[in-house]
Amino acid sequence: MNMETILLLAHTEADGSLAKSAREALHAARMLNKVVAGSNLVVGLVGEHIQAAANSIVAGPATKYFGVTGGEFSQSRYSTDAVAAEAICKAAQATIVVAPATSRWARVLPGVAQRLGGRADTHVTGVADAGGKPTVSRWYYRQRMEATLSRTQRPWFVLVDPGSQPACECGAGTATIELLSVALTGACKRTTVIGVREPKADAQTIRPDAQLLFVTGAGWTKKQSDGQTHVPEAEKIILDFLKATRSSLGSSKSLVDLGGEGQAVLPFLSHLNQIGQTGSTPRHPKGLSTCCHGEEPHTVGWRFINERRAISLDSNCGWARGKADVLYVSDAFKVMARVNELLAK
Ligand SMILES: Cc1cc2nc3c(=O)[nH]c(=O)nc-3n(C[C@H](O)[C@H](O)[C@H](O)COP(=O)(O)OP(=O)(O)OC[C@H]3O[C@@H](n4cnc5c(N)ncnc54)[C@H](O)[C@@H]3O)c2cc1C
Repeated sequence: MNMETILLLAHTEADGSLAKSAREALHAARMLNKVVAGSNLVVGLVGEHIQAAANSIVAGPATKYFGVTGGEFSQSRYSTDAVAAEAICKAAQATIVVAPATSRWARVLPGVAQRLGGRADTHVTGVADAGGKPTVSRWYYRQRMEATLSRTQRPWFVLVDPGSQPACECGAGTATIELLSVALTGACKRTTVIGVREPKADAQTIRPDAQLLFVTGAGWTKKQSDGQTHVPEAEKIILDFLKATRSSLGSSKSLVDLGGEGQAVLPFLSHLNQIGQTGSTPRHPKGLSTCCHGEEPHTVGWRFINERRAISLDSNCGWARGKADVLYVSDAFKVMARVNELLAK
């Protein structure tokens, strides 16, 4: 029997810490380590500083730590990240590489798998035991079908979706890291990171760790009972609610598409907020939909929302047809204004 070496491959954050997504991937790596008899679990870290990150998990199950460190590895850059990951995989002789599916790793690791003659599976949401054989699960067709799969090809790269696992709380100590030196050729330095452009903190409305997903639909911009639209009022109600609750903001497709049609829109919404078949499928314990009809292409994006409520004027909307646990047939302007009043108290 070939012994498997399972490598948790993580990059550190700007402050040298390990993100929650890395600890979640470590949990998944540990699960695989338990499944495969005789397997070995090691950790590989990439970043400008990695010692604190290694120290923070050293009381965990990993037997060895590898690292690539230095200023060139502080930023997300395909060329430098790829050589660092490749060097660690080779030094660790990794057969299964488990990594968090951060945007940084997601764009690099399938390429590293190619360089090493391996295979990569992305969007993994679970690991399981099939009679001692490591298997992973992931969803297909916009989260409609869940598949469990296993591979014989090695190295096997497994990118674990953030939010799908409990984070490993391993305990701290002092880690001994085998530092690897990586030759950076000219091509590695071709891309220079000159800065990061991102929305202001209060304009950042997508919050994957929020307890509540708050969804806005096209109804917020439609003519109301007085025959008028009330977009500025809608904007204030929605932003007040988000400010008070720190919920994550989702939207129906109709509402984010309105901008392209030259209609009055909510300026803080973009297609990134869109939930559904052609949008995202976030994970939150609770969801509240407002002014949205709850059609199937939208509600399919609610697959991982556990407790669902909706406010719509239409008692015959999709939410009433088994898509929500509770439907308030009511005017969302009035309900949310009252909710905001109560929150303000
Ligand atoms: C191939 C395909 C892919 C698609 N992908 C997606 C997707 O990923 N995501 C997505 O969202 N849609 C998607 N759609 C579109 C989807 O079918 C719906 O058209 C869309 O979700 C409707 O958005 P809506 O409910 O906000 O708007 P509407 O259908 O216009 O509904 C607005 C609702 O607001 C209610 N309302 C109005 N005023 C108030 C008020 N004061 N208080 C309470 N309720 C009020 C109305 O009663 C109505 O029910 C897709 C469609 C297709 C064909």
